[in-house]
Amino acid sequence: MPREEAFVGVVFENSGEANQVPLADLIDALTRFLDHFGTKALVGETFLATIGSGDGHARLARLLEACNYRDNPNGFFSELLALLGKAEGTTAIAVNGITMPSRLLVALLEVLLPGDKFVSVKTVDQLEKLTNIRVPEAERADMQQVMETYPVRLSMHTIRQMRVSSNVAYQYLPFVEELDSVGHTNTWIGQFHQGLLEQMYANRVIFLLNMSCPVYCRFCFRKHKESRNETNPTVADVRKAVDHVRRSPAVKEIVITGGDPFMNRANMAAAIDGLMEVDHVQTLRLATRSIAYYPPLFLAEDGAYLTYLKRKNLELQERGKRMEVATHFIHPDEISPQSLSIITELVQSGIAVYVQTPFLNNCNDTGPELVQLFSLLRGAGAELHYIYIPCSPIHGNSVYWSPISKGLAVGHYLRAHLSDRVIPRICTATPIGKMDWHTSGWAVEPVADNEDFIWIRSPYTPDYFKSFAPLADKLSNMRVNAEGTIDIQYMAKTGDAGLFLGSRPPRTEGDRPPLIENTAALVPDILADQRTRMSIVSTGVSSISRLHETRVAVEAETPTGDLAYIRDNERITDVVIASQKDAVDELFHITRIVRALQDMPHVNAVRLRSLRFAYHPGTFTPAVIDCMGSLNRLSIVTPLRLEIETQFLRAEEIQPAHARIVRRLNNRGITVYGNTPLLGGVNDTPDSINALAYGYRQAGIEFHHLYLAGQPLQTSWNAQHPVDLYDVVDIATRVRREGSGREIPRYVIGTGLGEVDFGLTSAVTGEGEDLSVTLAPYDLAYYKGMNPAFTWPANVSTDDDGKPVVPVTGLKKSTSFALS
Ligand code: SF4
Repeated sequence: MPREEAFVGVVFENSGEANQVPLADLIDALTRFLDHFGTKALVGETFLATIGSGDGHARLARLLEACNYRDNPNGFFSELLALLGKAEGTTAIAVNGITMPSRLLVALLEVLLPGDKFVSVKTVDQLEKLTNIRVPEAERADMQQVMETYPVRLSMHTIRQMRVSSNVAYQYLPFVEELDSVGHTNTWIGQFHQGLLEQMYANRVIFLLNMSCPVYCRFCFRKHKESRNETNPTVADVRKAVDHVRRSPAVKEIVITGGDPFMNRANMAAAIDGLMEVDHVQTLRLATRSIAYYPPLFLAEDGAYLTYLKRKNLELQERGKRMEVATHFIHPDEISPQSLSIITELVQSGIAVYVQTPFLNNCNDTGPELVQLFSLLRGAGAELHYIYIPCSPIHGNSVYWSPISKGLAVGHYLRAHLSDRVIPRICTATPIGKMDWHTSGWAVEPVADNEDFIWIRSPYTPDYFKSFAPLADKLSNMRVNAEGTIDIQYMAKTGDAGLFLGSRPPRTEGDRPPLIENTAALVPDILADQRTRMSIVSTGVSSISRLHETRVAVEAETPTGDLAYIRDNERITDVVIASQKDAVDELFHITRIVRALQDMPHVNAVRLRSLRFAYHPGTFTPAVIDCMGSLNRLSIVTPLRLEIETQFLRAEEIQPAHARIVRRLNNRGITVYGNTPLLGGVNDTPDSINALAYGYRQAGIEFHHLYLAGQPLQTSWNAQHPVDLYDVVDIATRVRREGSGREIPRYVIGTGLGEVDFGLTSAVTGEGEDLSVTLAPYDLAYYKGMNPAFTWPANVSTDDDGKPVVPVTGLKKSTSFALS
């Protein structure tokens, strides 16, 4: 029979649906998938070994052979479709022992269950039909009640994913435990609430432009039908909210959200066009989860919405403003080629995409799945912003809750195994605003007589709310602590009594001397040598330093042959090119290295260290930017993302010229990020770092790390001018309270054995300036995994858990409190 006349049938067992599709369509879909997406990152190592290299036809032939269907695609698809007919997301699908990657199965389901619509699901029968599940008789009444209390909506995109991934089904499929009444009745909606406008922070407001979403997440904090059924604001309402912003000069950023604001084009246009004309507005942050669960919203009509956003971003740029897109991803099974292509297209057009991840019990709470998720998103161009722990404590959500200790443990795993550029901030959204664990907040103690609640130290003060939210005075579940910030009650379990740190004593020392006048005298030292020579294990190549399991620093003039060290170490994802000379002076060699790295698919980012960017921005000529742009490869498959790493010490060093260059680099999809060493008497005050964080943000530079110790400049300077850890907590408190959440750096201690997060993945012990730091993410096996000959350096001891304890200089501890 000619190929085009053959059909293969599928019967979806629980839904009762049946379909016949041309065999040729299935072969084409599978061949295309194997051709384009047959990479380790997208199909996994085992499956990649089965299909091998070559084009889609060669790989399909190998797959058929391995599945015992050599030259028999009809037999292969008949068996596979029979398995898909039963699929409801709970079991892996395998043919002859070959487990099919979920992304491959979704590509076939696009043929079997085509369509781009989304569906409101009202009855249990309808749910079974759409999702191919069978709801047991005994649960049907409860399930119907769940659906009436917490509406269900699914897109075809999620329906296909849910059938082959329990991790996707877990997020969208209703379940009877939602009837559990533990938790808050309704979500907190901000101190200030007027029409579509909410305000929790002095410098930014939220516009709720549309109350519904194309898909409803079961863990949503607005999941109750009362929220789903709210009337959408009108364009006139949007204009009123814009007027409010016009009259509020403290407001710099607008978070445009809902529901999904992109579902309401008229309101979105009114908001963007109105806010664009407000002088003091700097950034529009557009929030949507549709990139993950409903990509047709952006891809329909030849990507009309993407084209619109790109045009509006250029108009914003002309006015010195910027657009960012915020999205949610939770598990790697959600990552589709469509999602990645949307991210890539936005980032390549100068629109930053940042990702927030709710931490869901039994879904993304162990570490490896987040490493995979964040690595894929990074390659496409996204920035990672927050992990929220725990998931919203409201009715119907309790299956998703996990203790705080579990979230912090994942932080350790990420620090050890994920690129430092994609480690999100670990935060909790309390009723009065967000706090970051063990920098701007911590668990103080249990709430007396209420085991479900804990006291959390927040960075907010009563004064902070006075200008915009008089309601804050009336909250009964908070108290002002001895430091003058607010402790707030929060519904959560810590999971570890050791996380209760108590209250921080007030500062005891008197006034500190003023900061030095300017930083110019430090600049020659900064520019003299940009190498990073803190190899944590020996690499055997003098110009390559291993900085982390995933990261090396390479000098630009390293011979191509020596890059074999990187080729042979598949855990390396990031290459920092740092030489004695600046990156702009080494572009010839950098180009050579990048070309070589392009043949190493495990490397997905190249970071060029350029301190001249900070002090001589004019060296970034159009030719230099063009050269860098040509080396940047943001893509769905085997990306090699280019970033510029630079350094500023104080806000006044950041000039309008930097913002112009960053914009040009961003428009080529290149991110610029800044690391700042905290220097005693130079920038170690809340005022100074808060101003710097704001300066970074204004210029479009990501504030990546605030180094407390371990940078070359700190070794000499801070020995004479140590940084007080009390100031570090004050700095983190101020930046969280007064800055945008997007301005917050990671607070990092560098050591000869690698980097750790202050408070979160490390503990500083000792008194005064005689201090050591315990590196919680690492142990001997970690280093031996990179170099079997590794032994602890002479000055390193280990604690009872085998974690290294390393002396640290340039810091001082002035109280007995754990963090300062
Ligand atoms: S996308 Fe956000 S607002 Fe919409 S249902 Fe999911 S969590 Fe809720």
